[in-house]
Amino acid sequence: MNICVVGTGYVGLVTGACLADFGMDVVCVDKDDAKIAALQAGHIPIYEPGLLEIVAKNERAGRLRFTTDLKSGIESALAIFIAVGTPPNPDGSPDLTFVRQVAEAIATHMNGYKVVVTKSTVPTGTGKMIEQILRAKDGGTEFSVVSNPEFLREGSAIADFLRPDRIVIGASDARAVEVMKEIYGPLFLAETPFVITDVASAELIKYASNGFLAVKISFINEIARLCEIMDADVHDVARGMGLDRRIGSRFLLPGPGFGGSCFPKDTAAAIDLARQHGYRFRIIEAAVEVNCETKARMIDKIVAVAGPLAGRTVAVLGLSFKPETDDIRESPALAVISDLVAAGAAVRAFDPAAMANAKSVFPDLYYARDAYDCAQAADVLVLVTEWNEFRALDFGRLGRIMKARTVVDLRNVYDPGELKAAGWRYTGVGRS
Ligand code: NAD
Repeated sequence: MNICVVGTGYVGLVTGACLADFGMDVVCVDKDDAKIAALQAGHIPIYEPGLLEIVAKNERAGRLRFTTDLKSGIESALAIFIAVGTPPNPDGSPDLTFVRQVAEAIATHMNGYKVVVTKSTVPTGTGKMIEQILRAKDGGTEFSVVSNPEFLREGSAIADFLRPDRIVIGASDARAVEVMKEIYGPLFLAETPFVITDVASAELIKYASNGFLAVKISFINEIARLCEIMDADVHDVARGMGLDRRIGSRFLLPGPGFGGSCFPKDTAAAIDLARQHGYRFRIIEAAVEVNCETKARMIDKIVAVAGPLAGRTVAVLGLSFKPETDDIRESPALAVISDLVAAGAAVRAFDPAAMANAKSVFPDLYYARDAYDCAQAADVLVLVTEWNEFRALDFGRLGRIMKARTVVDLRNVYDPGELKAAGWRYTGVGRS
């Protein structure tokens, strides 16, 4: 089957490569000439483990190609996946300009029955909007509109796409469902649960899922705060809670607040969506408020252990919003660095993949070669993103090259007892 994926970012590129791996003939389209030229030359514009290999394999097999020619992509495909960005407007609502533009282009170039699949995260009602755009221009051409939200996580996107917890298909007609089942045939055969529903419910499933996960993170961050006040240990509390199968242990890790390209945007969009329909989504509002406070209080933790920061040097490890990605959108590290700079600190930073992106936000920081270069002559070491290579740092060596033995562990990856015994001042999150 011929498939066109429009938008070749984190989601579109992974979707295109993985659908090609399922045996589909896929053309990935993007309006960004430089991105497409890079992909055509064999370069992957983002850092995502395993992506280069799966793209190269499927290109070699002739099942995957890249173009800026949206018209030919639309004309050649039975199913068109919309995977463009839906960034937040200042009021929190998602900007659907790119989705609308692609729908207009499909309406103009449709040359036969098309299944138009929304992979982008969009508010309930977007499927109807796309349908109206297609109907307004359609000269009797048949089409189906499908919502197929994506749940992959950056850093493990390939595995998440190839072995998802579930596939959600929101469609208004059986013909489209059959096409979607054929596309996801290998997952259907592997007994992946399929949730087949209407378009509006599928659209809402994505916001409900991300809203719930954001609540879980903010919940454990509030428990962490209580632990600090009450001299308890958040990890023991989380373990004691998480072993209850009704709760589950995942997403109960305290930290500097959630970030990334999805949770902040999708929680804001869920709140806006409810508001548009005269309803207040108070639990998600609270999760967002707690998240803002969580991010803001990280600087207080640093000051509490290190003292006033004016004129001091702070080494920040980890800039991406999570390990194994170069994505810094809404990364807690950005908030921490802004607060450090505002407090008068000189910041040295290191990240295994995200420094090029961070330079566009903070051009004047010192970007180090590795963790030890970052820590050189620093007064404080702050771990913000828990890349594996930061887990086994040689604290003996760090102690010798830093000005003071002070570490702020915003991911609780180090052993406070060991560090304190070695003469370090240590603070984590939610640990007494
Ligand atoms: P991204 O910014 O990495 O990529 C979007 C791509 O769309 C860009 O390359 C851009 O050039 C392209 N584009 C925009 N308008 C276009 C047009 N008219 N024609 C062709 N290309 C166009 O975004 P992303 O992170 O891949 O996210 C895409 C969508 O998927 C968003 O709605 C997001 O919320 C959702 N989503 C993202 C993730 C994630 O982890 N990144 C996970 C699940 C869902």
